[in-house]
Amino acid sequence: MKRPIAVYPGSFDPVTFGHIDVVNRATELFPKVIVLVARNPSKSPLFSDKERVEMIKEVFNGNKKVGVDVFDGLLVSYAKRKNASVLVRGLRAVSDFEFEFQMALMNRKLDPSIDTVFLMPHARYTYLNSTIVREVARLGGDVSGFVPPTVRRRLQEKLNLRNNSK
Ligand code: ADP
Repeated sequence: MKRPIAVYPGSFDPVTFGHIDVVNRATELFPKVIVLVARNPSKSPLFSDKERVEMIKEVFNGNKKVGVDVFDGLLVSYAKRKNASVLVRGLRAVSDFEFEFQMALMNRKLDPSIDTVFLMPHARYTYLNSTIVREVARLGGDVSGFVPPTVRRRLQEKLNLRNNSK
């Protein structure tokens, strides 16, 4: 059977080593993985969707199995349009489960031909999320163990700009 195209949706504000671990695992399973940045203006992200896409592109530069796109509509409609039949999500801990379970079942209800696949990152990334990385960066902590150098640089630039404009 032909292996399906997968879509990995999220905020990626910014992309972390946890997300990257999930993408790398997904590319072992699927021929193509589209990392899909949710626009989410209502969440007031630190990085614009354009910046979030740029960072992911920089990280996976040259990896033909990874595509990057941005969306603000219904996920299953996007997947259908791209001929993708798998959604990938990361599971860090039991605390992720309830929300993810609800989302997966809702997406299945909306389109029964699309399945959600959960991947667990390496244990060293299970405590990582973008919110905590933004917070550590904001407080001047070292984020080099959580995000690639390009993201660390952009975090510094962004936070310097914010501080200077205050
Ligand atoms: P977060 O702000 O929690 O990083 P995202 O919306 O960017 O949230 O996450 C997108 C997907 O990636 C979700 O399925 C989330 O559970 C997963 N994810 C986020 N961080 C990690 C991590 N450290 N390890 C594994 N999966 C993760």
